[in-house]
Amino acid sequence: MTIKATSPEVKQIIDDLQDNVDLPIDLDKIINNEGNIRTRPANYGNKFDGRIEYISDKNIFILYHPKLISPRVRFSIAHELGHFYIPEHRKLLLSGKSHNSKAGFISNKRLEREADEFASHLLVPESYLNELLFKKTFLTLKDLLKLANELQVSATAMTIRYVKMTPEPCAVILSQEGQQKFYLASEEMEYTGFQWRGCKDIPWNSASAKASKNQGSGEVFEEETDSGVWFSKRKRERKIWEEAFPLGYTGLVLTLLSDPSYNG
Ligand SMILES: [Zn+2]
Repeated sequence: MTIKATSPEVKQIIDDLQDNVDLPIDLDKIINNEGNIRTRPANYGNKFDGRIEYISDKNIFILYHPKLISPRVRFSIAHELGHFYIPEHRKLLLSGKSHNSKAGFISNKRLEREADEFASHLLVPESYLNELLFKKTFLTLKDLLKLANELQVSATAMTIRYVKMTPEPCAVILSQEGQQKFYLASEEMEYTGFQWRGCKDIPWNSASAKASKNQGSGEVFEEETDSGVWFSKRKRERKIWEEAFPLGYTGLVLTLLSDPSYNG
């Protein structure tokens, strides 16, 4: 499932927020500038990453799961800010419709996906990515993990933003317990004819499967593989490069597929 692009109106809101803060994006400053939002840890169970509650115009609370580690807390808070800044979401918020959020691109619900998209755009500024891709268009998953660390953003958000903006053919997959939850291909990947097979299970002998069995290892598993393992069989199969990284002990695996032989 792909996500729809952030609207020009929302992009402008994000640009304005980014203009006033330094990198890594200073969420505390954004929140303090609003004056009526406060953050605090809270726990509403395992299915909960965060929540925004509208009490009154002067009291809006962003709650986040106390056990999440820093980049995920930041993503969760930025996701809740999406529910605050996206005009349609704000209307729902002001009408008292709060909900527990499951951030991080694994929810199928439209509003959750939109808030995730808002968060990734806010935490990984477009100007920053343009500058980076101007110097080097091909990045490995290891490069992206390093950049994610610099920006204090989740590896998933960093990789999705890269795949959306790079002119290289590549694709990102997020899976959980061996089941695919999210897939996004770069424009060039689709243009060069790679068609997603859309299979539910990740291939059993892939680097992604190895990553899934090695949770918490902090290691990137990588190998050359046939394009047919992941994509519809084309007239001519190609060798592609697969890199997979287990996201802590969450059961989630982030996979980047790319075509290093590609030369425009
Ligand atoms: Zn949400």
